[in-house]
Amino acid sequence: MTQDIDTTPPRYRGRFAPSPTGPLHFGSLVAAVGSYLEAKSCRGEWLVRIENIDSPREVTGAAKEILDTLEALGMEWDGEVVYQDQRHEAYQTALAMLEQQGMIYPCTCSRKEIADSGIIGRESVVYPGTCRTGLSNYRNSVSLRVLTHNDPIEFNDSLLGPIWQQLTSTTGDFVLRRADGIYTYQLAVVVDDAAQGITHVVRGSDLLDSTPRQIYLQHLLGYSTPTYMHLPLVTNTQGEKLSKQTRAAAIDISNPVAQLISALEFLGHNPPAEIVESSLASFWKWSLANWTIQRIPLPPLCSANEE
Ligand code: GLU
Ligand code: ZN
Repeated sequence: MTQDIDTTPPRYRGRFAPSPTGPLHFGSLVAAVGSYLEAKSCRGEWLVRIENIDSPREVTGAAKEILDTLEALGMEWDGEVVYQDQRHEAYQTALAMLEQQGMIYPCTCSRKEIADSGIIGRESVVYPGTCRTGLSNYRNSVSLRVLTHNDPIEFNDSLLGPIWQQLTSTTGDFVLRRADGIYTYQLAVVVDDAAQGITHVVRGSDLLDSTPRQIYLQHLLGYSTPTYMHLPLVTNTQGEKLSKQTRAAAIDISNPVAQLISALEFLGHNPPAEIVESSLASFWKWSLANWTIQRIPLPPLCSANEE
């Protein structure tokens, strides 16, 4: 009997992973539409994960509101929605694996201490490694950091091309579990993308700087690295990223097609006038037939590679 070796590459599995800190706004709609169209035009699956790991920041009702909005926009997801607050055990297991490898250490530094001693990195202050050599005695309220190295971590963004980052000098050893016991986004997203078998991550460029940290964790945990594509970031007239902090307006679902068209236009596509007046079904039909990442406008300069 001959044994067949399955050489088919894994199917495309994408995802949209909103944080329920408020309703879906135009910035998150662009990430949703981009990840959806990219997955569906590759005949792949599109999963939804509610990233409510940071429970103090979760707004009651926001997760449901986001899911209702996606439904109203005609965006059907595959499988069950995953909620991060149900996955603490998986994060704990991953952390224990890293601990066993000797890659984790406790840190008692306050934000102020880090700010006073640190160097400004691209995102915030670089953690200077104060507690790397070990703490002689500490109480329970410590954060747990992962040891980083400074060899460039490289990946090829499907839209932006080659990107690299040196972790120790740009972020420093980063936190995987906060002093209040909450697992961080960086750890949770890596564990969940692997557990859900995500092959392609399409998301906003605000997360471009997080990707090397995530790839680093994937290497340490023995996970494969998905393909990444970072979409141009939606900003308001002040040039700020749309978010709850900048009081971004919720998507108006009384006219879903109009909202979807704006998102598609932002991503460089120009649906014809008759689509504007059409049904959700014809909008998606046109979009799937015409979606191409070649139309997505590129930023003038890729900031991730500066310095
Ligand atoms: N939950 C993150 C956010 O809403 C997105 C995570 C991701 O796509 O990796 O900003
Ligand atoms: Zn410290």
